[in-house]
Amino acid sequence: MNRRSFFASAAALGAAAALPVRSASASSPRRWDRTTDVLIVGAGLAGLTAGVTALRAGAKVMLIDKRAWFGGDGVLSAGQFYSARTPLHDAAGITQHVEVEDYWKQIESGVDDEPLSKVRDNLRLSVIYSGVNKHNPEVLHRSAEYSPRVVAFVQSYGIKFRRMNPAKPFQCPTENGSMSKFAEGMVSEIERRGGKILPLTRASEIVMDGGRAVGVIARPVSGGSPVAIRARSIVIATGGFLNNKAMMKRYKRFWSGIQTGFTAVGDGVPTDHTGDGIVMGRRAGAAIEDMESMPKLYAGPRKGTPGVSWIMFDVDTAFLVTKAGRRITNEHESRYSGCALKLLSTHNEVGYAVFDEKTFRGPNRDRWQFDKALAGHGLFKADTPEELAAKVGVDPKGLRETIDRINRDGKTGRDTEFGRTDPLFRAMTPPYYITAANWPLAYKTEGGLEVNPDFQALRASDDAPIPGLYAAGSTCGSISTRLCDVVASGLIVGRIASAAR
Ligand SMILES: Cc1cc2nc3c(=O)[nH]c(=O)nc-3n(C[C@H](O)[C@H](O)[C@H](O)COP(=O)(O)OP(=O)(O)OC[C@H]3O[C@@H](n4cnc5c(N)ncnc54)[C@H](O)[C@@H]3O)c2cc1C
Repeated sequence: MNRRSFFASAAALGAAAALPVRSASASSPRRWDRTTDVLIVGAGLAGLTAGVTALRAGAKVMLIDKRAWFGGDGVLSAGQFYSARTPLHDAAGITQHVEVEDYWKQIESGVDDEPLSKVRDNLRLSVIYSGVNKHNPEVLHRSAEYSPRVVAFVQSYGIKFRRMNPAKPFQCPTENGSMSKFAEGMVSEIERRGGKILPLTRASEIVMDGGRAVGVIARPVSGGSPVAIRARSIVIATGGFLNNKAMMKRYKRFWSGIQTGFTAVGDGVPTDHTGDGIVMGRRAGAAIEDMESMPKLYAGPRKGTPGVSWIMFDVDTAFLVTKAGRRITNEHESRYSGCALKLLSTHNEVGYAVFDEKTFRGPNRDRWQFDKALAGHGLFKADTPEELAAKVGVDPKGLRETIDRINRDGKTGRDTEFGRTDPLFRAMTPPYYITAANWPLAYKTEGGLEVNPDFQALRASDDAPIPGLYAAGSTCGSISTRLCDVVASGLIVGRIASAAR
């Protein structure tokens, strides 16, 4: 039984479906207020990319967004892309094992934390494996193939990438603040090319006619009459459902209770991720997938305390300790998300990153904003483990033992506790640094509308593409909700949707 037929039978048993599936969500209105070739619902990075691409292909394009601003979560993001070989790799001398198929192997092997949920969940060792072949890997593979094009597209807006780090040969981090510039660049291009982009306009229904999506009903957020927009192609790019309590409870169970945020507890992420596109799509008869997978985790300090991003475990020598001063995982392999998960699974309420002067003064000092954190009590410095522990209420004996062990192991390059073998594993030299307490948080969901490799939404009843209906970005359950996949989906769907008749 494949994943799609699983959903169909589970829905029949009332086990998995949260929303009723109807073949049509609204009958065709008698009068259309606006008409366009391609209508994009949601002007996050997926929607904006789709808009630019469709315009470049010669289509008449309209975008609507319920917010007053464009760019969605992308403009708040850390701006880290992933890609197979690009000129950035060549510039950093990373030329071995970085072609598309190497990148894909990494995704499939599940050694990095993000895309693995899409492929790894098919594996028996997965925490959510249920004997169901969950994903069509072709969609994610297509996105992986597009990754170098995504980087080139981003660069075409004048965005600068940081020098790559061989420790993570597929990570392509942009400079701080780049994603607002990227979104602004796309909005300007859309306007320059004659696209319409309407803020504060919320879509509520997809209009179906004879099994085809033919338009959308939207309303100004401030109230007022509904607007019926007719389009040949409709791209749903409305993001995830982290703030839809009913959907979170229904699909994510345990995870629905987790705190949300990014830069700090309850901070950094807008609270209107209500899964509108997934709800609308379901009403129009679309299939969903991956709804039950774990939301993406992060960890952040209390609101108002400047944080030090745990993304640093990717590229800097740093260690995660608990209140007992103990390590709990291989930080480099687990990455920020796996570290947050480990805290939860070991029933540790909080964790702390520990590092030394060499890391503090290293090439990423500005990227992680160490100085700001130090000045704002998000980071503390001391000459001994005991003094360091006292600053944040960590057990001094535990921290002393942990640091002594790291320093012993670091000399031989063999992590006797968690088996780290990466080049970032080394002894530390004082003074030492420790962050303020960080709590595990969820900041985005995976799961949503099921699409084929052309990002056409699939019908729940027979897996056929729904004519006229597409999904892009984190509204799709078929890709991971990373910037690289979100932008790739926009590049692909913009071209396909503009060519559709
Ligand atoms: C703080 C933070 C940091 C991140 N850092 C990274 C990173 O470094 N690397 C990485 O790969 N990923 C990162 N991510 C994830 C990544 O930014 C997102 O997954 C991605 O930006 C999602 O883009 P999207 O266009 O699919 O959705 P969104 O950005 O959520 O955009 C959806 C848009 O649709 C609009 N919308 C919703 N409902 C409606 C409706 N009914 N009608 C009209 N409009 C609607 C919303 O207002 C929004 O503008 C981060 C996310 C966060 C929150």
